[in-house]
Amino acid sequence: MHHTQKNLIEIKEKIKDKINNLNLSQYNPKIIAVSKTFSEQDILPLIEYGHAEFGENKVQEAQLKWSKIKEKHNNFKLHMLGKLQTNKVKNAVEIFDYIHSLDNLKLANKISNELQKKAKEIKIFIQVNLGGESQKSGIHPSDLESFYKRCVELNLNIIGTMCIPPDNQDPKPFFKNLLALNRKINLSELSMGMSNDYLDALEYKSTFLRIGTGIFGQRTK
Ligand SMILES: *Cc1c(COP(=O)(O)O)cnc(C)c1O
Repeated sequence: MHHTQKNLIEIKEKIKDKINNLNLSQYNPKIIAVSKTFSEQDILPLIEYGHAEFGENKVQEAQLKWSKIKEKHNNFKLHMLGKLQTNKVKNAVEIFDYIHSLDNLKLANKISNELQKKAKEIKIFIQVNLGGESQKSGIHPSDLESFYKRCVELNLNIIGTMCIPPDNQDPKPFFKNLLALNRKINLSELSMGMSNDYLDALEYKSTFLRIGTGIFGQRTK
């Protein structure tokens, strides 16, 4: 068995145990295998195993890799997780099924324009900057509701919110905060939890866990 398949199975077991402990029987979060920097050879075993959700953080890298994979496989969904520049939106909406990193109005306008030209549905998360970190992207929590309303007016299919908690801090208060914000604007999907904290994210009902190194191993690039 390929190491990525083995890692994924172990992660699924841990998730199952945690959900049992939390007594949340109907709860079934999705695992996004974050394949950034990894090659087709590492990705294909997971596709063959039947895994369907994959994440990348760069448009060009995703295009190169996944257009090749798409020649042979089409039973997967691609998630854009990284910072998205407006000049990359045209290509991004072609290849991705989800965008997790909507973080400004200019970008929202651009995505809306590109989607109108194409007959494509993209599911979108608004990235929220909960830590107030100037180096991180995201909508300020106090602006979230009005930003969300603008996105709806632009006909964007906003399904939830996303966060990346600050490094070296307990992520739980951030997960708790995002869950509350999400509920306040009546959204159902939550993109939170990575290799180091996905079990914590389950306590706050994350619906999309973004797991890279835990599945593929350490990134060398
Ligand atoms: C790389 C990345 C991940 C995965 O991180 P790991 O720690 O490798 O699990 C998740 N979310 C985003 C936005 C990323 O860029």
